[in-house]
Amino acid sequence: MKIVDHIQNAKGKTLFSFELLPPSKGQGIETIFQAIDPLMEFNPPFIDVTYHREDYIYKERANGLLEKVAYRRRPGTVAICAAIMNKYKVDAVPHLICGGFTKEETENALIDLNFLGIDNVLVLRGDARKGDSHFIPTPGGHAYASDLLGQVKSMNEGAYLYEEVAAHKTDFCIGVAGYPEKHFEAPNFNTDFKYLKMKVEMGAEFIVTQMFFNNKKYFEFVEKCRDHGITVPIIPGLKPLTTKRQLITLPRIFHLDIPEELSSEVELCKNNDQVRELGVEWLVQQCKELMDFGVPVLHFYTMSNPEPTRKIASQLF
Ligand code: FAD
Repeated sequence: MKIVDHIQNAKGKTLFSFELLPPSKGQGIETIFQAIDPLMEFNPPFIDVTYHREDYIYKERANGLLEKVAYRRRPGTVAICAAIMNKYKVDAVPHLICGGFTKEETENALIDLNFLGIDNVLVLRGDARKGDSHFIPTPGGHAYASDLLGQVKSMNEGAYLYEEVAAHKTDFCIGVAGYPEKHFEAPNFNTDFKYLKMKVEMGAEFIVTQMFFNNKKYFEFVEKCRDHGITVPIIPGLKPLTTKRQLITLPRIFHLDIPEELSSEVELCKNNDQVRELGVEWLVQQCKELMDFGVPVLHFYTMSNPEPTRKIASQLF
């Protein structure tokens, strides 16, 4: 079922959902099930699975020169999504990224997803590869999420790369990312909104936000989206703080602010057990306020560690 239908069927009740990371290669599907099982009691209608572009390593050739080769750390999303749907009978939402894919590879992935009955995709550009200073599109691939969205939309109309097959139309419900604190590369908020609006006008049916720790940022983002004529559901993405180190890593990786009220309390914590407790408390308060605001879904970035999210959800759902 499509995300937008789940939201509509909920008739204003806030839903619970979460995002998982594929495990490191070599680990089996049981690792994924262990990350899902503790959260199933909260009836998530859908579960997102992230995609991780391959890194590069340097391999020595026989002639002594170094060769740059692609190196994958985690499995892709197609098989994981199929396993989740089969075991739990919930919708799995694969993240589809531009980086690392040619248009042909994207089409093949979409054919597989459609074959499996996967109805939703979250289309993203992806980040720069480790070692690259900025995002470099794959030759023959897409440069922006909007380009990738255009390809999914074309397949929804039966237009494949090299043939038109009206009988083979896909029917993906497409989501995109939104940034309550602005995407870090955008020169200003208005430019970022211009491209977000473009994605919605091209057919994105819902937005999932980057994590934020200050609800004011989300409320203002929603208001600005509505001012720009963006009317689709905006699902807040939320992450419980779990370590002291995240005071440094989260702003660096995700380009967000941690409110002083929270950071100063984290600094007072004696260990990470205390940080986890505080992280849960903070997020419960955030979630209560978001539910009062009427958000369609509370979407948790679990990083495949279900425990903090379970503690939060058990106080809300
Ligand atoms: P885009 O929409 O392409 O935007 C990128 C930048 O370019 C923005 O500054 C935008 O303003 C600008 N822009 C957009 N369109 C155009 C255009 N046509 N011309 C010029 N400028 C333009 N990354 C992963 O690798 N795997 C994941 O699974 C993953 N999941 C994510 C889930 C969520 C909910 C979020 C919020 C992010 C996720 N990311 C993931 C990270 C994401 O890939 C990065 O934030 C990336 O830097 C931007 O992706 P985007 O889809 O927002 O890009």
